[in-house]
Amino acid sequence: MSLGVEDLQSETLRTLPGDDVRQILWRFTDRYDLQMMVQSSRGVARGPVARLVAGGARNTHEWTAEKSGLLKAFDDAGITAVFLDPQQGGVIEGPKNFALALVAFELAWVDAGAATSSLANCLALAPIHERGTPEQRDTYFNRCAPPAAGEAREIWRGAFALTEPIPYVGVETGLLGGKVRVAEWEEGKEPILQVDKRGRFITNMAFARFVTAAVDSDDPRLKGSCMVILEEGDPGTFDRGNPARKLVHQLSSTRDPAFSLRVPASRIIGGYTVKDGVIIPCYSHGEIIEAVFRRTRVTVGVMTSAKLLSAIEPVIRYHRGRFRGGEIATPGTPRYDLGLQMKEDVLHRLVDIWATGEASASLGFAAARLFDEVDPLEHQKEEVFAREKVGRGTAAFKAMRRHQKEALDCLQSGTNCDDPMVKFVLLDSLANVLCPACKLWNTGHGANMMREAVSLMGGYGITEDCPGFLGYKWMDAQLEATYEGPEAVQRRQLSVTMTNELFLAQFHRWIAEMREIGSRRPSTGACTLATAMHLWLWTLNYLQKATDPDGSKLYHSSRHGVTFPLADALCWLLAARYFILDILELEEKGAASPVVAEALPGLLRFYSDLCHVQCARAAGEVGRVAAELVFGYQAHPEWDGEGFQAAYKEEELLALESIMPGLASTATDVIAADGSHPAKAGPCARFDGYEQFVRLRARLDGCLTGAQLAKDRAAEAITKVMIPEALDYPA
Ligand SMILES: Cc1cc2nc3c(=O)[nH]c(=O)nc-3n(C[C@H](O)[C@H](O)[C@H](O)COP(=O)(O)OP(=O)(O)OC[C@H]3O[C@@H](n4cnc5c(N)ncnc54)[C@H](O)[C@@H]3O)c2cc1C
Repeated sequence: MSLGVEDLQSETLRTLPGDDVRQILWRFTDRYDLQMMVQSSRGVARGPVARLVAGGARNTHEWTAEKSGLLKAFDDAGITAVFLDPQQGGVIEGPKNFALALVAFELAWVDAGAATSSLANCLALAPIHERGTPEQRDTYFNRCAPPAAGEAREIWRGAFALTEPIPYVGVETGLLGGKVRVAEWEEGKEPILQVDKRGRFITNMAFARFVTAAVDSDDPRLKGSCMVILEEGDPGTFDRGNPARKLVHQLSSTRDPAFSLRVPASRIIGGYTVKDGVIIPCYSHGEIIEAVFRRTRVTVGVMTSAKLLSAIEPVIRYHRGRFRGGEIATPGTPRYDLGLQMKEDVLHRLVDIWATGEASASLGFAAARLFDEVDPLEHQKEEVFAREKVGRGTAAFKAMRRHQKEALDCLQSGTNCDDPMVKFVLLDSLANVLCPACKLWNTGHGANMMREAVSLMGGYGITEDCPGFLGYKWMDAQLEATYEGPEAVQRRQLSVTMTNELFLAQFHRWIAEMREIGSRRPSTGACTLATAMHLWLWTLNYLQKATDPDGSKLYHSSRHGVTFPLADALCWLLAARYFILDILELEEKGAASPVVAEALPGLLRFYSDLCHVQCARAAGEVGRVAAELVFGYQAHPEWDGEGFQAAYKEEELLALESIMPGLASTATDVIAADGSHPAKAGPCARFDGYEQFVRLRARLDGCLTGAQLAKDRAAEAITKVMIPEALDYPA
């Protein structure tokens, strides 16, 4: 099968991509357990969840009995147990990042608040999963497991409490107001702790029976910060607080709780040691939340992708049917058959939404699969460190540096990296980029694109009756961009992790990979992407060394105007890259699937057009950001009247050339063969020393060749694709 558009001229997309296509794209054709999980999650989403939304359950932020009924539906469908290992009552072996992402995708397809209710329980357990002692894991995982047949037991549900009332924890997670003190410590006995913690916006708080809470020591007998497990029933106050009057995710419970409880020191997550009469928690709250969020944020990113992709079918149906009925169009006329799809703009905008949805899902699921690979390697690393008695902190840092150096050597020499430690540092450097990138781009840019989807439904889009609940999904997307760390947090993290030499060495290889794909499969836009990646790398290198006119460094942690846009630009590149890789997978594996094979040529043609559109958009963003940063921090030249006149003379010539070719041929020769720029004395920019950048930028613009033609083809496909008669929810 070839992706060459020429070979596929007569083929087009026949139906919306179904499960068989998704299983190939997201690599779970051989995971029957996950396929079953997807089906049962979908049953809950398009059944009870959809009925609640359609019935108006979102009109209150109170946690009602009917919303509470969803928890039982999750239990019955096996959703509650996805997080657990089989010996704890779960059904999925091994790491579960990808499985959880698939469940979140299915639930968020209908309502992300429902997805959040289910995920918040995993978030509560995550600190225990990542850093808990074996006893803590056994206790809480068993309590959270649905009862076995014949077992009469109520399932425990949890909440994760990090955020605190102002002025404490929000984006800045170090400013803890929650405190822990030693309340009692009898000789030879376990210390009893007094924990005082107030939470703000804590999910699941209407019904959680335990809370994993971040607190700081307020006692010289306890060192640093930690996370503790609080239970309803512990002596003291377990006040669930008032519901947050939120506008979004109304199928989840969010409250501002207050706790003042006495708990045994064994509730410190990960345990503690005692040295010179001081309790030393094994993990600070910062270490635990870092391990937790780097996994759970990916799942949040996937939720917004689901919304974008869920918008396609309702929008197509609305557009096609817009002029049916009455007397204004009769069957067989374009007005009747195509309706609003006669208008290019609505089609082009839908192509953009679809391409964003696909690219963000590709990035999100790639990140989730990556964490499934990282998890066992990370455990191996910890075992090696324990065996070799490598402590945490500086010792671990030094050991990791050694392995990073080995990994870099492997990459540079092109040899295979089989050593698990080397493999770990390589994948870890990627995970440190993919997680914030997916959380940032999928939710932030995704929220913007959800607005586009809403706008395509006209007035209907902003009503409760909008098919596909698009208005709700738009608002909800803003919460996904906010909780578990808003965009600033992700940008801040990316600005550090994307400069890691191991990541950059891999990124460098990806440019060659994209060039190679571009030569075989030009219709995907891979060549455009390769040039955009090159420009991004050039810009990063430049900014890391450059200073502003006052001599201050440009690439600096506090200079968000530089680091943040560059982080955003990287996300566009990553999403497009993973989209391309998924299409290549479809191309390779599609023919072997009896369901996919027959319609594969049209499917591939459509997908490569979508991808081309996405690569062009990514290239445009990267070009804009790079140019703004490279030239925007240079002082504007002081012009004498003559210089100003000369500069604008040249611009006039260029404009004239466009309407009277030949008149100003020398001026339009934007870049000479030797790389010099004839417009050196140009109106604003001073190009001296920036020939490379200018050349790359010009090449990037040239690389957009064909992107709008791809958009036209994708738009046409959208006019022809078959969709079901009616949306399958609410049932
Ligand atoms: C419905 C809902 C459910 C939630 N569930 C939970 C939960 O279960 N558990 C939990 O612990 N928390 C939860 N949260 C809290 C959520 O994680 C926080 O609201 C979020 O992390 C942001 O914190 P903040 O609201 O204090 O924003 P702030 O810290 O006040 O930040 C506001 C904005 O200021 C800017 N900003 C702040 N600091 C910086 C900086 N250093 N650099 C650059 N820009 C900055 C950013 O633009 C940021 O978005 C929930 C929130 C909501 C709304």
